[in-house]
Amino acid sequence: METINIRQAQLDLKELFERAEPSFGEYRTSEYIKERLNAMGLTDWKTCNTGIFGTIDAGKEKTVGIRADMDALPANTEKTEYMHLCGHHANMTTILGVLENITKNRDKLKYNVRYIFQPAEEVIGGAVTMIEAGCMEGVDEVFATHTTPDVALGSVALIAGGCMAGSNHFEVRIKGKSTHAAMPSSGTDTVTAACEYVMSMQTAITRLKNPVDPGLISFGMINGGTAANILPETVVLQGTFRHFDPVVKEVIHNAMQTRLKAIEEFYGVTGELIIHDGTPPVICDKDLVAKLINLSNAKDITVSRYDRKSMGGEDFAFMTELAKGAFIWQGVSTGGYQPPLHNKDYRVPDEAVYPGIKLLTAYLTD
Ligand SMILES: [Zn+2]
Ligand SMILES: [Zn+2]
Repeated sequence: METINIRQAQLDLKELFERAEPSFGEYRTSEYIKERLNAMGLTDWKTCNTGIFGTIDAGKEKTVGIRADMDALPANTEKTEYMHLCGHHANMTTILGVLENITKNRDKLKYNVRYIFQPAEEVIGGAVTMIEAGCMEGVDEVFATHTTPDVALGSVALIAGGCMAGSNHFEVRIKGKSTHAAMPSSGTDTVTAACEYVMSMQTAITRLKNPVDPGLISFGMINGGTAANILPETVVLQGTFRHFDPVVKEVIHNAMQTRLKAIEEFYGVTGELIIHDGTPPVICDKDLVAKLINLSNAKDITVSRYDRKSMGGEDFAFMTELAKGAFIWQGVSTGGYQPPLHNKDYRVPDEAVYPGIKLLTAYLTD
């Protein structure tokens, strides 16, 4: 049982793409999902903000969760304010396609199914609010899909173990005494202090952690100063660090603190480090991934050899902390240059969602 209602999938993709909305503002998207669920006879769902979750009780022992994220990204074009530049309309369409198949074949279900449409993945927060509302209660296994330009259109990629990195954002405030840029010794030089801090963190990443363990630190923002000849009182840095292992997380965290202390002392400035705890890494269960690969082979779904971890973060990680799970990449690449995720030109061809619908339907029913 693996038919795909292609016309419906195309309609869902188009409609959800047109309804692109910001994180926690997915009102029209949510309305569409509810309409579609109702049309499938699924009326017993709960809401949490704009999120929706419900259960198809097949009277089975195990419950399997299938999750899609709902939010879009700022596009700032003349035509539209928001656009699905991370392809979340495709993730929703995939889950709707699976639900469409299994609601027509309830007698073939091997598991109870918990469907989860989650808001606000991009700002990290949607998964946690949904979990607090109970979306993971009683869930034994959980799956999510996401499109990627790194994999060929029409195929899936499955990675066992760490798949997407743990992510934490931070802010560093370096404060001193403003002075004439030509007389640095009359005050403090917060600019040079900040630059040294940025560069020393890149050294920390290569020298203090085991080089075979992935880890990354990037500064995306440096703010300070008003004129070429004034050393500013404050420089603010913002950035993010990524890891797959709590040991690496701790190494980076400690390095950030000890270097800041050393810089305070050397430059006569004060430093403040604020770390916003983000997401843990997405860890895909080895056995579940093996099962999905075998099933893909049996169902003639092409499995890409792509097996690279991503340093991107995903709040699906909070769900895989509560139940065994796997992340299914669906390829969009048609060869040549592919705009990356979040790029203004990132698009998802209709065929990208078919393998995910087929694979999850097979997993739940075969
Ligand atoms: Zn994204
Ligand atoms: Zn995304």
